[in-house]
Amino acid sequence: MTLSHPLLTALHLARGLAALALVVGASCASAGPSSGPTSGSEEEIRLDRGGFAALSREAPKVLVVVAHPDDELVATGALYLTGARLGGACDVLTITDGQGGFKYASFAEALHGVPLTEEAVGRRELPAIRREEQRRSLELLGARMLVRLQQTDHRYTQDRMEVLAEGAGVWDLAAVRASLDRRLAGERYDFVVTLAPTATTHGHHQAASLLALEAVARMPEAERPVALCCQVKAADAEDLGVPPALVDAQAEGEDLTAIRTTPAPFTIDRNEPFGHRDRLNLKAIASVAIAQHLSQGTMLGYIGAGDVEEYWLFDVSPPLAAARAADWFVQLQDPSFPEREYRSSAGTNASR
Ligand SMILES: [Zn+2]
Repeated sequence: MTLSHPLLTALHLARGLAALALVVGASCASAGPSSGPTSGSEEEIRLDRGGFAALSREAPKVLVVVAHPDDELVATGALYLTGARLGGACDVLTITDGQGGFKYASFAEALHGVPLTEEAVGRRELPAIRREEQRRSLELLGARMLVRLQQTDHRYTQDRMEVLAEGAGVWDLAAVRASLDRRLAGERYDFVVTLAPTATTHGHHQAASLLALEAVARMPEAERPVALCCQVKAADAEDLGVPPALVDAQAEGEDLTAIRTTPAPFTIDRNEPFGHRDRLNLKAIASVAIAQHLSQGTMLGYIGAGDVEEYWLFDVSPPLAAARAADWFVQLQDPSFPEREYRSSAGTNASR
């Protein structure tokens, strides 16, 4: 693999021009496919947060648990506003290595000079490529750490039992559970965010959410993080504000996927404008984050899409969860960009 393709270079230049003060050279010089970590081994990547707000103990601490490298972008608004703007520690735990994304790599195979859409080649090369795509994407959002468990992304299925059944042998479930338990106990996150485990989504997505919820349920109630699931919808979607129909799952007598359907879900409006003359919004930032996943055609198709992030509160959450979540989303409503006064030297569009 090379990262010297003009398009990739242009993307890195764009990052620099966006005044994010990221150490571009250093962030691009690391692992290529041949230096990717071993399948099944757990990897922690400390992310370069550049000039984003310094990490603050006062700000919310968030863990997003997902199956594939890119799933976390469902929660782009919460990640960016919490991590980059508030200085909250935002970590993303990705269970699989993303090797199953080879079918969608048509655009990237020429960039890398490797026939990634051939299954054997894609499965071999994509884990390291997607690792770098995910790392770059999360650095744009001000996330703190990327944890990759590198379990096998075996195939598309809506049957979560292909990975969750005892003896399925696709994921090392004991290792996944142990990692989640260790992290939740050690980091004491305020919030855990998953995708909404509905029956019509990828079985890996369902499984990742259920494994995260099981881990939350294993904690003493008072020590649990507030658990929420996220969905992104179009502004004119018919199911706006409609609770998702989640799969049934029990653990230790608790209904893991029960959610509070009242009041309405917590929301982030990706079209809320900010910056000079209100020319920026979260949808643009989400699109830039998505655009880092050049090997994934399905993700690139979401550029410019998605208007509202809805967050539903799981009942497995600790006492006062609703108030704590409400406080988080109030904080996210103030992106606190500096207001500048420009003179005519800035142009005829200098005034707000
Ligand atoms: Zn996925």
